[in-house]
Amino acid sequence: MTILSHPIDEQSNPFAIAQQQFDIAADLLDLNMGTRRRLRVPRRELKVAVPVRLDNGDIEVYEGYRVQHNVARGPAKGGIRYHPDVDIDLIRALSMWMTWKCALVNIPFGGAKGGVTVDPERLSLGELERLTRRYAAEISIIIGPEKDIPAPDMNTNPQVMAWIMDTISIHRGYTVRPTVTGKPLHVGGSEGRTEATSRGMICLLREACRHLEMRMDKSSVVIQGFGNVGGNAARLLYDTGVKVVAVSDVRGGLYNADGLDIPAIQRYQAQTGTMAGYSEAEGVTNAELLELPCDILVPAALGNQITRENAARIKARIIGEAANGPTTPAADAILAENGHFVIPDILGNAGGVIVSYFEWVQGLQEYFWSEHEVVENLERIIIKAFHDVVKVAESRHNHMRTAAYLLAVRRVADTAETRGVYP
Ligand code: GLU
Repeated sequence: MTILSHPIDEQSNPFAIAQQQFDIAADLLDLNMGTRRRLRVPRRELKVAVPVRLDNGDIEVYEGYRVQHNVARGPAKGGIRYHPDVDIDLIRALSMWMTWKCALVNIPFGGAKGGVTVDPERLSLGELERLTRRYAAEISIIIGPEKDIPAPDMNTNPQVMAWIMDTISIHRGYTVRPTVTGKPLHVGGSEGRTEATSRGMICLLREACRHLEMRMDKSSVVIQGFGNVGGNAARLLYDTGVKVVAVSDVRGGLYNADGLDIPAIQRYQAQTGTMAGYSEAEGVTNAELLELPCDILVPAALGNQITRENAARIKARIIGEAANGPTTPAADAILAENGHFVIPDILGNAGGVIVSYFEWVQGLQEYFWSEHEVVENLERIIIKAFHDVVKVAESRHNHMRTAAYLLAVRRVADTAETRGVYP
């Protein structure tokens, strides 16, 4: 199996990791040097200072970013993250991954990402709204339905998207629905957007089980993260009778080898704000959770979770990456060596942006689809992408991430090369 053309150093800077992953594909594709130089760096980067009047009257200034990695195949697309770890290199990496994700599932978008360096748990609702509106106003110079379309990401949600849509619309003087996706249904959102990433992941797990001749209904699943993606994935799996044996939030996790009662944990979490202290399961740390015995592991939280340090101790046969960047390239080599089947992030979490695409189309056309149409089209697109990647992995003897990159990078490179370099 051709995994790497050169040994890999363990990097923790996400942008260095994104570039390493790109370089592996560029080498295998024998990409010409000019194209390689163009695709290796973001096209545009905007850094903004976001002043916010706090409830006590003080003014705090937060750092915000919007990075457009590539716009060759269409308007830039990607979420907005509110997190203390947000910095320019994280946003650069996430924007590059969006480019490959959109190309891989063949939707007509480039890649972007935005974020604000903030811990939103420390803000009141009013402060969060003022932060969002001012950040939206600051990045309004580069976003818009035909230019760059934000969406939710970690710690942002449909309400935040509604504030962004409203802010941009107030500036324009009329309602501009397709300026952002992931909006609530009654402000122009799409059916099925909230669960889209989880639904996409479950569909991929089903295909992966078939491909590996494993019984999904007899499998045990461990999920790291219990937010929009991890929480919905746990619930959808539970509802279809698949045994979820461990879940976690930022504070830690719960494990029960006989299977967890996910709705009961959701109720407990809604009442107490955390899953810690829930009595029907054993407590585990987020690090321990990754190494639990199970058939399927779904990292659905932060990046850099599976590293050179713990990769050899992972037991799951299938690793379905719902988070962005959960595995370092050094860990990837170990996972491939040990025969794990990885559904790489740019495929694994693409369900979200696929339904974002549907929401954008519906907003532009002012014509809205049923949930059935959304789910059917989501599944069609993601299943096709899965089999495209498997075919490349098998024909080129690569592992799944490299195969996904080969497809995605080739598509973006073809468009960029045919369009040429201006002037
Ligand atoms: N934040 C999500 C992602 O990382 C969704 C992006 C979008 O819908 O534009 O894929």
